[in-house]
Order: sequence, then C-alpha cells, then structure tokens
Amino acid sequence: MGERLGLLGGTFDPPHVGHLFLAYTALEQLGLHRVLFIPARRQPLKAAVETAAPAHRLAMVRLLVGGDPRLGVDPVELERDGLSFSVDTVRTLRTAYPDAELTFLMGEDTAATLGQWREPAALAAMARLVVLTRGGERPVATPLPAGVQVERVAARRVDVSATEVRARVRAGLPLRGFVPDDVAGYITAHGLYRATNE
Ligand code: ATP
Repeated sequence: MGERLGLLGGTFDPPHVGHLFLAYTALEQLGLHRVLFIPARRQPLKAAVETAAPAHRLAMVRLLVGGDPRLGVDPVELERDGLSFSVDTVRTLRTAYPDAELTFLMGEDTAATLGQWREPAALAAMARLVVLTRGGERPVATPLPAGVQVERVAARRVDVSATEVRARVRAGLPLRGFVPDDVAGYITAHGLYRATNE
C-alpha cells in the first residue's frame, strides 16, 4: 500500500501552534505517514482579505514544519494563479503522488463551508475527508453537498487563531507560545502584521 498522506490547506497567515496540533493529532489518530501543509495563494472564501505575501507565508510554514520528516510543505497552490480551489490541488497531488492514499484534513470551521466549495463531490472521490473536531464543538450545521461524506475525529484544539496572532503583533504583545520562536523571529524581522486592518 502507498504512503498515507494527510493534506492540510490553509492561509497560514501566520502558521501557529494550532496548526501543528492539528497535524500531529491527524498523524497519530489516523495513522498517517506524513502531513503536507499547503498554503493557499488566495482562499476562495476569503478572496477579499489581504494576506501577507505568499513568499512570507511559505517561509513561515517551512519554519513551523522545521526538520520533522513527518511534516512537509507543498507550494502547489502558490505556484498556481488565481483562487486556490482544493479540488484543483488534489487533482495535481494525485498525479504528483500516484500511489499515495490522500486524506484531506480540516477543522470544524472549515467543514462548515463545504457547501460553498467547487466540485466537492469530485474532491471527496479523490481523497478521504476528515474533520478534526473538538469535544463539545458543534458539527457542521449546513447540510453536506451531495456525494460528500466526512469522517469526524476527536482532536485537541488549542485556542489560538492566526487572527489573534496578527492582533497581538499589532498590539505589540509577545508571540511566545502562540507560534514557534523561529516564526515569531521571522514576523519581527520582516515587520509583518504591524498595519493590517483585521
Ligand atoms: P484566521 O484566524 O486568519 O481565520 P486560522 O487560524 O483559522 O486563520 P487557517 O490558515 O485559516 O488558520 O486554518 C487552516 C486550517 O487549520 C483550517 O482547517 C482550520 O480549521 C485549522 N485550524 C486553525 N486554527 C486551529 C487550531 N487552533 N486548532 C486546530 N485547527 C486549527
């Protein structure tokens, strides 16, 4: 059997410890061999939201992943122009990793938007869809699109979001514990998030 590969898409603006917990939980709970972080060029449902430049987000995801061989980064969406539709990404990855068993990972907040995704049934046909959910978190309220099934796996979710990290930078608060020190150093060195509106 081929490699059991988890795919974790996101804006990663910036990547934080919550993303790491999600990846490690998926590795353990689902018996995956590796999780690939896939930074989006432009997330279709957040298309109007300005982000840090793709090169910065890619560099920070590489720092988050560090040298851990169980984690990887695939810039496939950054190399493609336009909106980053997951179905296009998974089609490309199917070819790039022909023997792999693909598991598309997401948090409950992301799962709630599945009804608005492009070709969700095609995506579900190519990859197992797994929602990492926290005990007590309410499952998706909106009905799933036709032909789409998701599995739910109980996972830890640390109460950290990229929105909060950006707000801390703007407020001049330390990032220690929210992002790895390397990522915090990168944010400072490049002056990121000092003037975003969100
Ligand atoms: P923002 O605050 O800018 O909306 P975010 O912190 O939610 O960003 P994303 O890059 O949008 O980060 O998230 C990528 C994936 O990681 C999504 O599937 C999301 O559900 C999941 N995720 C985000 N934060 C956490 C967390 N603290 N614990 C577990 N999963 C998370």
